[in-house]
Amino acid sequence: MRLLIMGPPGVGKGTQAVGIAAHYGIPAISTGDIFRTNVKNQTPLGQEVSRIMADGGYVPDTITNAIVADRLTEADAAQGWLLDGYPRTSGQVDALDAELARTGQGLDAVISLVADTDVLVGRLLKRAELEGRDDDNADTIRHRMEIYTEATDPLLATYRSRDLLVEVDGIGAVDEVAGRITTALDAKLA
Ligand code: AMP
Repeated sequence: MRLLIMGPPGVGKGTQAVGIAAHYGIPAISTGDIFRTNVKNQTPLGQEVSRIMADGGYVPDTITNAIVADRLTEADAAQGWLLDGYPRTSGQVDALDAELARTGQGLDAVISLVADTDVLVGRLLKRAELEGRDDDNADTIRHRMEIYTEATDPLLATYRSRDLLVEVDGIGAVDEVAGRITTALDAKLA
């Protein structure tokens, strides 16, 4: 099972990624988590990307692609994986295609969590308030959503044209959304 999961900020993508991966017995591989761990441990990679991450930018494709290609060769990824937060650019789509072609593998499906923007903005505002993050307001959150949509729409179109896209309503209780995802995937892959 080789899967991707995509979804806008606030939709609960990371939580769903972990649950879905556990359901299918495959690792959930989050590029954001890999980068954050490296920043925390002050590795050379962490030192290279910390500034970029703090500014909310994208880590360059060359670095990101190499990190993912390397991670996919680890033993736990031999039977499959779920990538969370990658690919994020068309260059990353190409790199993943090339890596899969090189190893004679293919993607099974791309999960796209969808939700109404106003609902997500409301959620993120509440979270920012609870966490005392006053740099997050409705405008910055909406801006982040726009950047996400601009970057991701072409990727979703690519995977839709390959008939890999599985769109799932991302609003609901964690278990409820997880159930929708596995039902949709099982139907798609049957
Ligand atoms: P995330 O937790 O997925 O939101 O990722 C946190 C941060 O890590 C992002 O804001 C980027 O700076 C970086 N990052 C994660 N995944 C990627 C990716 N596929 N390409 C470039 N940068 C990434």
